[in-house]
Amino acid sequence: MTADISTVLGDDGILIATMDSAGRTMNILNEGLAGPLAEIVGRLESDPAVKGLILSSAKKDFLAGADMDRLWAISSAQEAFDESMQLKAFIRRIELCGKPVVAAIHGMCLGGGLEIAMGCHWRIVVDDGKARLGLPEVKLGLLPGGGGTVRMPRLVGMQQALQWMAEGTEVRAAQALASGLVNQLVASKEDALLQARAWCLNNPKPQQPWDAPKFRYPGGDSRTPAAAQLFSVAPSMASSKSFGNYPAVTHIMSSVFEGGVVGFDAALVIESRYFAACAISPESRNLIGTLWYQLAAIKKGQSRPAGLATTKVSKLGVLGAGMMGAGIAYAAAKAGIEVVLLDSTQEAAERGLAYSSNLLDKAVKKGHSTPDKRQALLALITPTADYARLAGCELVIEAVFEDRAVKAAVTQKAEAIIGVDAVFASNTSTLPISGLAQASGRPANFIGLHFFSPVDKMPLVEIIVGAQTSDQTLARGFDFVLQIGKTPIVVNDSRGFYTSRVFATYVLEGLAMLKEGVHPRSIEQAGLQAGMPMPPLALQDEISLSLALHVADQTRKDLAEAGQPYVGHPGESVLRQLCALGRIGKKAGRGFYDYAEDGKTLWAGLAEHYPLAAQQPGQPELIDRLMFVQANEAARCLEEGVLRSVADANIGSIFGWGFAPFQGGALHYINTMGLARFVERSEQLAAAYGERFKPAELVRRKAEQGGSFSD
Ligand code: NAD
Repeated sequence: MTADISTVLGDDGILIATMDSAGRTMNILNEGLAGPLAEIVGRLESDPAVKGLILSSAKKDFLAGADMDRLWAISSAQEAFDESMQLKAFIRRIELCGKPVVAAIHGMCLGGGLEIAMGCHWRIVVDDGKARLGLPEVKLGLLPGGGGTVRMPRLVGMQQALQWMAEGTEVRAAQALASGLVNQLVASKEDALLQARAWCLNNPKPQQPWDAPKFRYPGGDSRTPAAAQLFSVAPSMASSKSFGNYPAVTHIMSSVFEGGVVGFDAALVIESRYFAACAISPESRNLIGTLWYQLAAIKKGQSRPAGLATTKVSKLGVLGAGMMGAGIAYAAAKAGIEVVLLDSTQEAAERGLAYSSNLLDKAVKKGHSTPDKRQALLALITPTADYARLAGCELVIEAVFEDRAVKAAVTQKAEAIIGVDAVFASNTSTLPISGLAQASGRPANFIGLHFFSPVDKMPLVEIIVGAQTSDQTLARGFDFVLQIGKTPIVVNDSRGFYTSRVFATYVLEGLAMLKEGVHPRSIEQAGLQAGMPMPPLALQDEISLSLALHVADQTRKDLAEAGQPYVGHPGESVLRQLCALGRIGKKAGRGFYDYAEDGKTLWAGLAEHYPLAAQQPGQPELIDRLMFVQANEAARCLEEGVLRSVADANIGSIFGWGFAPFQGGALHYINTMGLARFVERSEQLAAAYGERFKPAELVRRKAEQGGSFSD
């Protein structure tokens, strides 16, 4: 056949088609696969010698999904509609061909891959812990356009399908079987082929359940009382989370509901209409541009010095077994790296190890890991108070107290043991890397690796390049971050680096609003409406007001010592006032909110300290302030050379502090708005609220030249 699919016809007439996209690590539903697949189905339809078809894959995964380049090239709703109808016409041919077609699935079977599998008459999954099935389109602002919103509810019921599709959930083998998404689990790929063959021979004339005259949805279709209940609640629940910023979620619900009151083929057409609406929406363009293309560029090493061989860490040292150190040790061990976890006492180091065993206990309980795997991972981590154990570490990351003297001492002790070419990294969140490197005898090997909390969940690591950090060291830090499955962005050393600096502008803007007399509830609502994961005041409570005040005071002191001016922020006095009242945040049970067992409520005393202004601004004004202040600060970071690329800015903002993903990231926000309009509105905001809104020179310049933020 072609290079992308090979076929073998057995003596029994069963054709095995093995997908193997040429030159790729994954099978993608592109021209290379779609053309030959159509030919194979044609052969099945017309050749009496072919009695059945088994779809399988030669890669480690079944089929990862659609061809994003093709989707990206779509420029009109009609084109999107036609593409989607074409795919489902092909899948419909599979299910109506009158002969058995079985999907023998292993590894990932996502998006278009699962849509094809659902069009097969029988689905067998290799249950080796690696199977993941799902329709993750929503994560890129899309809906499944290959019949997913039509077939999945008919297989697993509307409620389950809606939940999975609206969240883009990846389902494991056991759950897929229990829900009815697949039909059979087997232990190995060989078994899958054997069973698939047997099924074909035993079921020469299969029919999809929905093509049977008496078909009923599991749990009922859109006309049942249960559906009336579901659809009266689900949309409002979804928009209470998304604030209308993710139209794909609503479109998925509409497609499922409307598809449940009409016949199967009409439902397919309805789905394509909603698919077209999603495919050309600004939200999906923003999400795909950043979370697909820019993320891929980062992972391919766009910010890594070129020409240096890739390295791997086999032994890692972690200094400080507190919240961050323990998390870093866990993430590294999970990637198979041997870890020495050091603290000032053996007991403290053991506590760090206990963090991993707790996480693993939970994973075993949920069936996401096994006792053997748990044991193997824990065996990779050696808790100790003895620096000699660091011998042989290619990389050491310190995560001790945020104190220059403590950090300097551990740097020197570790460097006395590790090899001269080992890399030493600091996980500091605020202290400039070039300053910390002064304690090192090898500043060229010194770098910042800024992890986020909780380390096991947060995908980003901000790599900070100090004044003397070598390219070799940067490349090694970069490789390590990829090795543990996280996403690296690379920034130059500067106060607050990139993420903390821009993130702080969001929170402080909320505090400034409070000081002006804006109703705290309006402030919080504006944060959520803007698409931020947490509103500013609640977020400030989480990170603690005293910590923020400490950082502000330290900055003021450092700048004074360096003879540089300090530009205060109106939000700072709010921090000082609440701290003086002992309201230092969530950890104290009191901050902007009062915390109780059953939740939090805004502190009633805010009204007394920050009386409401007679004239309350509208929500759009507040939303603009919260977003412009971040976007502008991100632009300044690029202008000042703190940031090295637009992709790092956008991905760092979404993965680091949850900048509204549908906007495509902090700099892309400016593109979407249009640079000239951003400059104009920034000037208005600056006139009303202060210099911090003055548009960065870089934006102004690009606006004049008709440019935008792209790499
Ligand atoms: P933590 O207080 O939970 O842990 C610090 C650990 O370091 C403690 O276990 C302590 O016993 C140990 N330690 C202190 N002095 C030591 C020494 N001389 N030798 C060996 N061990 C020593 O703190 P954390 O929240 O894990 O933060 C650690 C570092 O990570 C800090 O630099 C912090 O700024 C940074 N950071 C924290 C976060 C966060 O969200 N907590 C995020 C990013 C970076």
